Amino acid sequence: MSDILITHLRTRAVNVPLAYPVHTAVGTVGTAPLVLIDLATSAGVIGHAYLFAYTPVALKALKQLLDDMAPLIVDQPLAPVDLEALLAKRFCLAGFTGLIRMAAAGIDMAAWDALAKAHDMPLVRMLGASPRPIRSYDSHSLDGEKLATERAVTAAQAGFRAVKTKIGYPTLAEDLAVVQSIRRAVGEGFEIMVDYNQSLDVPAAIKRGQALQALGVAWIEEPTLQHDHAGHQRIQNSLEVPVQMGENWLGPEDMFKALSAGACRLAMPDAMKIGGVTGWLRASALAQQFGVPMSSHLFQEISAHLLAASPTAHWLERLDLAGSVIEPTLAFEEGNAVIPDLPGVGIVWREKEIERYLV
Ligand SMILES: [Mg+2]
Repeated sequence: MSDILITHLRTRAVNVPLAYPVHTAVGTVGTAPLVLIDLATSAGVIGHAYLFAYTPVALKALKQLLDDMAPLIVDQPLAPVDLEALLAKRFCLAGFTGLIRMAAAGIDMAAWDALAKAHDMPLVRMLGASPRPIRSYDSHSLDGEKLATERAVTAAQAGFRAVKTKIGYPTLAEDLAVVQSIRRAVGEGFEIMVDYNQSLDVPAAIKRGQALQALGVAWIEEPTLQHDHAGHQRIQNSLEVPVQMGENWLGPEDMFKALSAGACRLAMPDAMKIGGVTGWLRASALAQQFGVPMSSHLFQEISAHLLAASPTAHWLERLDLAGSVIEPTLAFEEGNAVIPDLPGVGIVWREKEIERYLV
């Protein structure tokens, strides 16, 4: 079989509504600024992926970066590992991190999607694994006690056996009240994860963490600044409950540093920030060697495939970031993500909706 070549890269910036705005202790994400990627190939298949810019302020810059990277990859073979090496070398001096790393991850995810489509198989099979149901938790916001409880009940009624709620209210008493209210509503045998979104200093995180673990939360996520591995290590060593982090690791090298520092007992890389499918595969090997259960962050469509191929797969985060512009091919049944029987990732654009939200 001769090389399949990349023939064209198309990008579109959209800013799409969310079913629920994502409130956190450090700010609100009211809409999802996304860059949609179409990677065309000489095999006739087109790879799809999207990137999350987090803030509309970074949206155009991210799109422009991808557009300016396109000449580097057009006419190259559709070989994601080789493409990553090419881009890593090209951006060694600028720094293969930040928006550059995110843009490269978009190319990687679209390239893997195209590769799986060219072989007419779901991505999970392209990775050498079989589709299987992936245990998922419904991911919520800093919603206040009433809405947080209502959303947990709705999730439980939909078959989920776990929810995550964001905390970091002005007082510890408010944090505890939210968790207790959810517990009363959903009962035992149901996991409750909590996420501080980096909002505490280390002593406060230890104090709040000790109170929360008495309530039986499943994990405490990013209690302090994500780059403070020593601080996370002090928090983790003061607690029985696992500290969770990883959504801000830019590449497996960040993950290696955090795990080497003993910053956490659980890992949750973000498919984009960790470096796409290629970065994820390396991250999943790290998690295996460190003996750390690994969950996903956002990007639920591709993460279902990736978790099915991860040796220490833990939980998929169900948070529908791109539902406004992609068809719901990823189903959730009895709290599990069900990988669609479609070639590639299974991303199908809703073209009419994309037109509506184009930036
Ligand atoms: Mg988080």
